[in-house]
Amino acid sequence: MEGCIFCKIVQGDIPCFKIYEDDKVLAFEDINPIAEGHTLIIPKRHAQDLWEIPAEDLTAIHLASQKIIRAIKKALKPTGVALLQLNGRGVNQVVMHYHLHLMPRMSESPQLPVTDWGLKEGDMEAIKETARKIASAIE
Ligand code: AMP
Ligand code: ZN
Repeated sequence: MEGCIFCKIVQGDIPCFKIYEDDKVLAFEDINPIAEGHTLIIPKRHAQDLWEIPAEDLTAIHLASQKIIRAIKKALKPTGVALLQLNGRGVNQVVMHYHLHLMPRMSESPQLPVTDWGLKEGDMEAIKETARKIASAIE
């Protein structure tokens, strides 16, 4: 969809720290990570939210999420990984292209918030290295 930042990532017009892709989905690191390994999984075909996304794309995203949290567990050894997906401006959906957040938590870190965590730009070199670690742990 025109003007959609995640469609631009899918098309390769904007770079990303890619973790995984198949014919239906793309996963990459969030550039304002709430924690190391904060990953987004999106459908390649534009859909705004859970109300809109076709079932086959949703299925592909959830199958990919299992593959990726296995890799996150292996690469980063978090104490847990939260999956979060926001629908609508009222709950702070900022990018209007469906995305599932995978948010790892390390044992010494504070608990994770749900709809409002304030975006802080990450260290791009560190994110690149984390992406490499997770991508190489995907089976
Ligand atoms: P939300 O719509 O609130 O669920 O969150 C949108 C997420 O997309 C935020 O965590 C942003 O940091 C993230 N984001 C926005 N633009 C990019 C980008 N170009 N690459 C990676 N992550 C992005
Ligand atoms: Zn889009």
